[in-house]
Amino acid sequence: MEMTTIQCNCGAIKLELIGEPLAQLYCHCDDCQAVHGAAYVPVAMYRISATRLVAGEPVMWKRKATPRATCGECGTRVFAEPPGMGIRGVTALLLPKGMFKPTAHMQCQHALLPIQDDLPHYKGFPAAFGGSDEQMPW
Ligand SMILES: [Zn+2]
Ligand SMILES: [Zn+2]
Repeated sequence: MEMTTIQCNCGAIKLELIGEPLAQLYCHCDDCQAVHGAAYVPVAMYRISATRLVAGEPVMWKRKATPRATCGECGTRVFAEPPGMGIRGVTALLLPKGMFKPTAHMQCQHALLPIQDDLPHYKGFPAAFGGSDEQMPW
């Protein structure tokens, strides 16, 4: 089984990722926007059971609804854990170079601007994560 270890910017928190992500996408939700101060955020989704903290103890901090595992030293948001979904959305900026291969944009109902690319632009969550697969007109 493929293993990937990621860490926060200062290295205090290390998270092991087991196997391939369930999905990789850009999240445009207003929660990610508020937390990251960005228009949208690259995310790699893993089942909670496919992730293992191997160093440090993150603070489960939240700005709106979704708790974010945050390094108390450097402030890096290592992953988000949306309540009741059994998944962790790992901040894909922390993955090794070349590993992030997004297949969609989600939560585009909150998008700051339309994005022009060949990926699907889901209004909410994709069907695989409890949404409808409904897409934006752009
Ligand atoms: Zn840190
Ligand atoms: Zn989001």
